[in-house]
Amino acid sequence: MNTALSRSWQHAVVTGGAGFVGSHLCTALLDSGAAVTCVDDFSTGRPENISALLERPGFTLVRANVAEPFTVDRPPDLVLHFASPASPADYLRLPLHTMETGSLGTRNALTLAQRSQARFLLASTSEVYGDPQQHPQNERYWGNVNPVGPRSVYDEAKRFGEALTTAQADAHGTDTAIVRLFNTYGPRMRGYDGRAVPTFIRQALAGEPLTVTGDGRQTRSLCYVDDTVRGILAAAANGLRGPVNIGNPAEITMLELARLVIELTGSHSEIRYIERPTDDPAVRCPDITLARDKLEWEPRVAAEQGLRRTISWFRTQADAGI
Ligand code: NAD
Repeated sequence: MNTALSRSWQHAVVTGGAGFVGSHLCTALLDSGAAVTCVDDFSTGRPENISALLERPGFTLVRANVAEPFTVDRPPDLVLHFASPASPADYLRLPLHTMETGSLGTRNALTLAQRSQARFLLASTSEVYGDPQQHPQNERYWGNVNPVGPRSVYDEAKRFGEALTTAQADAHGTDTAIVRLFNTYGPRMRGYDGRAVPTFIRQALAGEPLTVTGDGRQTRSLCYVDDTVRGILAAAANGLRGPVNIGNPAEITMLELARLVIELTGSHSEIRYIERPTDDPAVRCPDITLARDKLEWEPRVAAEQGLRRTISWFRTQADAGI
């Protein structure tokens, strides 16, 4: 890989490091030789996600809510702000926590980066595009978000986080980056977090009907977590301020996904159609031209391969009630 895209870090702080994406990020950073401090309040993260990391030299856990001021034991050279409920089930259950994490939490993480003269990276989301009227979505599209809809606690918190990150860079010269992650999946997702991939896999393995919302023709683009983490680290290493889309442009309908999960699990489950949530986006697909050009990044793991790995992991968790 181009050296500009593979930088080594001394000490990275990962907020939300006990979550799905954050725990994979902590692992990749430790593997690269960095010391890692994970700051997490376990509001949606699981101790099991980082239990193996606690045994590794260089890994520190700080149990804290980032919406309140927090400290780490030494200055980082990289702050990755991943704390935030991410699944609709979680942010609808924790609406104010989600908004405080996206606003006050982002402010506190930015302050840590500024004081330490560290590079800061915000985990934003494709949800900033709302129910998009432009397809696929590139970074110049401003989105179609309902500010008072049920999803707004998440979408608007992330949009505010992007604005705050931009203001901080402009006002204080903090070295910042914004990545807009599209749907990511893989091991360590929770079977009951409400997102399509873990829901379908859990249902298929239990022999229950797979619940497809609406007519199932709405699309998502699914990126395997290893690809997402590689993209995040490329954006951290590169001086790019962003925002930059990180996602897999291979689009799949929810019905196709359900059928693929049934096939790959060898399940006899049927498909059951249920009501589609309000403001559920009809389409979602990243334009990753910018990431390809500036980060030399693109996804490598095809849906079938990534789903097989995820299904294998879920089989090992069958008794864990996740
Ligand atoms: P997750 O729920 O598994 O992880 C979030 C982590 O943040 C959890 O460990 C949780 O305990 C922690 N957290 C939440 N609020 C906190 C607070 N106030 N203080 C400290 N810790 C807190 O979700 P995820 O899927 O791993 O998402 C991680 C980040 O990536 C989020 O910022 C999310 O918005 C972003 N993102 C994820 C996806 C995806 O498909 N997974 C897509 C777009 C963006």
